[in-house]
Amino acid sequence: MTDEKARSRRIDADVLLVGGGHAHVAVLADWIRRGVPGGARAVLLTPEPALRYSGMVPGWLAGQHAAGDGLVDLAALAARAGVELLLDRCVALDPEARAVTTAGGRAVAFNIASFDTGGEARGAALLGEDPRLIEVRPIGAFVERLAALRASRQGLARVVIAGGGAGGVELAFGLRNLAGAAPRPEVTLATGSGGLLPGFADAVRARVARALARQGIAVVAADAAFARGTLMAGGRSLEPADLVVAATGSAAPGWVRASGIATDAGGFLSVDAHHRSPSHPHIFAAGDVAARTDRPLAHAGVHAVFAGPVLAANLRKALAGEAPQAAYRPRRHSLYLMNTGDGSAILSYGPLSAQGSWVLALKHRIDKAWIAKYAALVRGA
Ligand SMILES: Cc1cc2nc3c(=O)[nH]c(=O)nc-3n(C[C@H](O)[C@H](O)[C@H](O)COP(=O)(O)OP(=O)(O)OC[C@H]3O[C@@H](n4cnc5c(N)ncnc54)[C@H](O)[C@@H]3O)c2cc1C
Repeated sequence: MTDEKARSRRIDADVLLVGGGHAHVAVLADWIRRGVPGGARAVLLTPEPALRYSGMVPGWLAGQHAAGDGLVDLAALAARAGVELLLDRCVALDPEARAVTTAGGRAVAFNIASFDTGGEARGAALLGEDPRLIEVRPIGAFVERLAALRASRQGLARVVIAGGGAGGVELAFGLRNLAGAAPRPEVTLATGSGGLLPGFADAVRARVARALARQGIAVVAADAAFARGTLMAGGRSLEPADLVVAATGSAAPGWVRASGIATDAGGFLSVDAHHRSPSHPHIFAAGDVAARTDRPLAHAGVHAVFAGPVLAANLRKALAGEAPQAAYRPRRHSLYLMNTGDGSAILSYGPLSAQGSWVLALKHRIDKAWIAKYAALVRGA
């Protein structure tokens, strides 16, 4: 059979997982422990054989973790679960015909599908194109690019981070404390007009502002954008800059809205508390690609992680032809542990904040336990 013929072969799945994200690894774990429901033919469509855990990236920059430490082996999890792995990317969804198309030209038909693809980069759309611009998403490509720059010891002397959310703040600290860099990079954080850590308590914002100042990280509370090749924010130039990192949140993948499935205003796939599409009940979604219709939910890894077991339970029900029952009810506040790159971290939990090496130790314990849980499943432990 020629390659072209092989590519044109259609795959028929009873249940299709699109994206090996933080929620779908919990589904794979459930299937490893309890078997794929009803012996269904299950397929995981995702472009990379491993998931990079973003929470450990700032610590990797600061030399606290090795590059391989924050990876979940999707290929091995799928193999143990008896799930076929298709290393490709979804580029189109037809929710009526129950099929997706991949970048490689494959058609995958499904009876039930679940989406956990994360969001897409939007830095170039917000700031404009420039060869010095690097997107945080996809996070695996970001780590590879940073690793190459670090190895070449070039292009990292003056760094600007665009985006004042928790990801941008942690990257600013991580890059200021970049392992092996001498002298350490000069870092500017352009938070956007919303300022530092919008939505966080004043006490947390004040604590983070003090830590940034103490480490000599300049903060500009304005939107950054390229104007004729010069990086500007709030009417002033942020040049010279060797590298501009866009940590500006994620956009919905274009193929979600184009599919005609129900979305929110931003084009993210609408789901109810069961993480099921209200317009197409045979479709589920979790993580950054999804938007809850019953309540606002921040696009954060913590929600993808906690929604995972709920999704697993509801997919099990759906495959048995029953209505989903499990609902993801987030706690009132989410715990954020922001690594400051200098051996310390800042805790945020609603109005509460704290700081110290013990917070970093707690962060490392939580992060490593999450990674270890999946490594143990791969080993069959
Ligand atoms: C530096 C940094 C630090 C962060 N730290 C934290 C933190 O401490 N706590 C927190 O809650 N959040 C944190 N976040 C946010 C967090 O990274 C995201 O909210 C989280 O990754 C979302 O998980 P997800 O499962 O939706 O998607 P992802 O983790 O992005 O996973 C998506 C998966 O789908 C695959 N995929 C992508 N597109 C396609 C496609 N078209 N077809 C098929 N597969 C596809 C990807 O390869 C990947 O395997 C941080 C973000 C950054 C940038």
